[in-house]
Amino acid sequence: MSTQPASVLTFGAPPQPTAEIAGRSERFPIHRVYCVGRNYAAHIREMGLDPDREPPFFFMKPADSVVPSDTAVPYPPQTADFHHEIELVIAIGAGGSDIPMEAALDHVFGYGVGMDLTRRDLQVDARNRGRPWESGKSFDHSAPLAPLHLAAEVGPLSRGRIWLTVNGDIRQEGDIGQMIWSTAEVVSAASRLWELRPGDLIYSGTPEGVGALAPGDLVEGGIDGLTGLTIRIGGAG
Ligand code: MN
Repeated sequence: MSTQPASVLTFGAPPQPTAEIAGRSERFPIHRVYCVGRNYAAHIREMGLDPDREPPFFFMKPADSVVPSDTAVPYPPQTADFHHEIELVIAIGAGGSDIPMEAALDHVFGYGVGMDLTRRDLQVDARNRGRPWESGKSFDHSAPLAPLHLAAEVGPLSRGRIWLTVNGDIRQEGDIGQMIWSTAEVVSAASRLWELRPGDLIYSGTPEGVGALAPGDLVEGGIDGLTGLTIRIGGAG
């Protein structure tokens, strides 16, 4: 870690990405954004894959791809198949490595409703060629996030309806109790691969019903007990 004063920076440091906390004035400083690849059997089947219970796998998005609710999200470049994925987001408040499952929930700061926006055509092409997923998953504005709720106030959230509508029509609907890997298992598994830090977010996977978005679409999603998430798809960005 550098101890040089900020005055030696070549140019202005980028702003610290943050997330809103419901009912609080302070904000949650975002460190890293982890995402679980496949965590609902019916979604794995709709992607043409076999939902055997292999260990969860992860990919990442940049911290500055997180955008707040009630935002216009530009339709991203280089895709003709821009998809919504509604997800429970786990916010880490206490870091650690090799966290046992029994202790994992003690590391959770709170929960939020998020979307793992995806350039599906680029993701599937990368998958089929054995290439990395960044072009399909890790683009600007790709991680909308509603205000976080403290775990101490909303509980462990092991069950609850999760849903997404496009222009008022239901597209995704499930229950977070259907997650193949629970919140505790996801946190524990991630901590065996990376040292988790306060400020990490984990997007925990999406239920079935993913589909394409178009410019002008109003996309709303929610999870029982949490503040909902609303975005408007803008024109080509
Ligand atoms: Mn996802």
